[in-house]
Amino acid sequence: MPYQNEFARKTTHFDFVRNPEVQEFLANCEYLTPPSEKEAQALTSVFQKPPRLPEVELPHLILATDGSYYEAALNDRIPTTRVGYIKIGAVLFSLKEFADLRDGRFVDPFKVAALQDNNTALTFVLPSANVRLRAYNSVRDSFRAALDEQLLSEKTRFAPQNFHTSLRSTLFHLASRRAGELGTGHPFKLKLHKCPTCGKGPIELEDKLEQQFCPYCGAPVYPSDCLRLWEEVSDYQSNGTALSRLMMILEHLIPIHYLRFIAQKAFLALTRIAFFVDGPLAIFGNAAWLHRSIMIYLHEVNEKLEKKGMPPVLMIGLQKRGQIVDYVRLIDRFLPPDSLFAIDDDYRYKYILANRKPSKHGFGFETYYGQDFIFKTREGRSFVFALPYPYKSKEEPGSDFIHEKTEWHRYTNLPVAIRLIERLQTELYQDAVVPIALAHRYTAISLQPGGRVLDLLTRRALA
Ligand SMILES: [Zn+2]
Repeated sequence: MPYQNEFARKTTHFDFVRNPEVQEFLANCEYLTPPSEKEAQALTSVFQKPPRLPEVELPHLILATDGSYYEAALNDRIPTTRVGYIKIGAVLFSLKEFADLRDGRFVDPFKVAALQDNNTALTFVLPSANVRLRAYNSVRDSFRAALDEQLLSEKTRFAPQNFHTSLRSTLFHLASRRAGELGTGHPFKLKLHKCPTCGKGPIELEDKLEQQFCPYCGAPVYPSDCLRLWEEVSDYQSNGTALSRLMMILEHLIPIHYLRFIAQKAFLALTRIAFFVDGPLAIFGNAAWLHRSIMIYLHEVNEKLEKKGMPPVLMIGLQKRGQIVDYVRLIDRFLPPDSLFAIDDDYRYKYILANRKPSKHGFGFETYYGQDFIFKTREGRSFVFALPYPYKSKEEPGSDFIHEKTEWHRYTNLPVAIRLIERLQTELYQDAVVPIALAHRYTAISLQPGGRVLDLLTRRALA
């Protein structure tokens, strides 16, 4: 997704602003009222000096992913016939390389450009409005088949000959950890809640290459049906919702995919890598269940690391837009540099989501796997970031999750995350840090999971 500054670079933006109707509209708009001095004091009193350690060891490598999608008409003469594209860019670089990018205070764009690689991004092509694959009756069935095939394809595998290393297999690993009757406890098995054709279920599927069929109606079923994207696919409308959902799912699935690869190949190398994810650590929509599986998966990995005396995996969700980012803009001038706040539910519902009814089980109960923080660096730049909840589940017995989730000391990696964000803050993009900015810039020309990133990982992290 684009950054603020990126819009400004596009000439179309200026054309819009020059349009008299747009100018008239803007003249009639009012901005949200910024808080008064007195209100601001109350709003910012919750911020405190972030935890700092005298010696912080930063990860050597940064792995960042970012996605984008678009729908294109197949043919200019029939604009209602559309195909969807999703690209996920992944960038891996070392902190040392990053230091070399800097020329004095500023990141040298020529050196950034030199980091470019000719490999193509991981791209998904999916049928959208009015397009079906041969042998399928509907857009929905075509979408399901195309998605499953691409998740399983060699381009997503750690080892091309072994399909158990595909992105679809990572989905199996997560889906097998579901709670209740949809969990299987076996990494090569998952369950669909129901068959997309006849509606009966649940149906257990295996991680195998052969086509699988519904035991009730005999129609084809696919492991990736568990993401329930098909429920949002229609034959003649734009399928933008399903495409954007899938992009978001991939933005979370791919870091876990890499994590699984590194955990298998060289477990302790996990502590040398920081994973940057675009946006909050949350999954929305019909696949929101994935967030619980990710919590469980991270917890398992972290438990193993802890046994070896190592800190947990450093995963950072960075938000560059959305309600919290808007809110921070509003209060930013009142925030002192070097301050941090872990957003609690009371504050969120009172000030940030004032129009929303508080959720009974706490904010983000069905969607979030990480805690949001607002951080203003010593240099005076503000960031909204998230760290994974240090819990296996939000309902862990004996825990008061709603309150404990905002306690800094539970996030072992917090001082490292803060140092890292400070280290990576950049003048290139407003409110952005370099990895996500790079990942975004390189969406079109970046590295694919089965290819260059894995080569680099193998060479550098696992050496
Ligand atoms: Zn069926």
